[in-house]
Amino acid sequence: MCIRDRCQAYKKDFPEIQKDLNIFLNFKGILKYPIESPIDQKIDNRSKSFIENVFFRNYLKEMPVDYILGKTNFYGIEFNVNYDVLIPRPETELIIDYIIERESIGSKSIIVDAGTGSGCLGVTVAKKFPSSKVFGIDKSFSALKIAQQNQSELDCKNVYLIQSDWLKCFQGNSIDIILANPPYLRSSDPHLNSLQWEPKNALVSGDTGIECFEEIFSQSKSLLKKEGFLVVEHGYDQLRDLALISLANNINCLLYTSDAADERSSVDLGGRRII
Ligand code: GLN
Repeated sequence: MCIRDRCQAYKKDFPEIQKDLNIFLNFKGILKYPIESPIDQKIDNRSKSFIENVFFRNYLKEMPVDYILGKTNFYGIEFNVNYDVLIPRPETELIIDYIIERESIGSKSIIVDAGTGSGCLGVTVAKKFPSSKVFGIDKSFSALKIAQQNQSELDCKNVYLIQSDWLKCFQGNSIDIILANPPYLRSSDPHLNSLQWEPKNALVSGDTGIECFEEIFSQSKSLLKKEGFLVVEHGYDQLRDLALISLANNINCLLYTSDAADERSSVDLGGRRII
C-alpha cells in the first residue's frame, strides 16, 4: 500500500493525519509536495521505512507531530520540544502580540516568564526586545534544559534561566512585566485524556484549576514595580475567578481597570481567553 493510501486508511481515527504527515515529510526533507499529490510514488524504500518507524509508529500511539519531530514553531521561530515541556498553542502567541502592542517596554525592562517550559514566551520576548532582561523561571530542571538548548541555539543573550518555585527567587519591587502560561486545568478535566504525552505538571494546577494563579498573583503583588503588570493565559471559564484573585491581590490587571471586564480579556483562537 502506498503511503498516501495508508494515510487515508487512518483518517477516520486520526483526522489530522494527512496534514501532520505533510509537516513531517516536509520537515525531514523527504517530500516538498503534499502527500495528496501523486508524487507520493517517488518516495524511496529507505524513506518509506523511516516514515513507518518514526512517523506512523509514534503517531498511531497519539504522539503529537511536534514531539515526533522534537521541534515546534512559536511566533515564527523554531523551538526544540520534548515530553518535559508543553507544545505551545497558537493562542499563547497572543501574549506576545499584547506585549508588542503595549509599547511600554523600556530599554532596561525586567521581564519574567514564569513557568517558562520550552522558553518559547521568554525567548520570543527577549528577541523582540533585545535590550530588556528576560528571566525564564521554572521549577522543572528538565524543562529548563530544553529552554537552555533553545536559548543557546537561538543565540538569545538577554535570557537568564533560573530554577525556582514560581517567583520566589526575586526581590520586591524589581519586575516590570510578568508573563505566564501556567498550568490551569482541573485535575478532573476530561480534556486531559487527549493530552497524554504532555507533562501533567505543566497542565494541571490542582482540584480547582486556579491554584497556580493564586500563587503567582499573590507573589507578584510585592515584586512588580509601580507601573508593572502581569499577563497570563487562562482557561475560558476562569475569567471571574481571575478577576477576584487580582482584586484580592490588588494587582494591576487589565480585567479590573473597567467595568467591561469581558471586553478587556482578549479572546483566543480556541475561544478561550487571556488577560
Ligand atoms: N491551553 C492548554 C490546552 O489546551 C492548557 C495549557 C495550560 O494549562 N497552560 O491544553
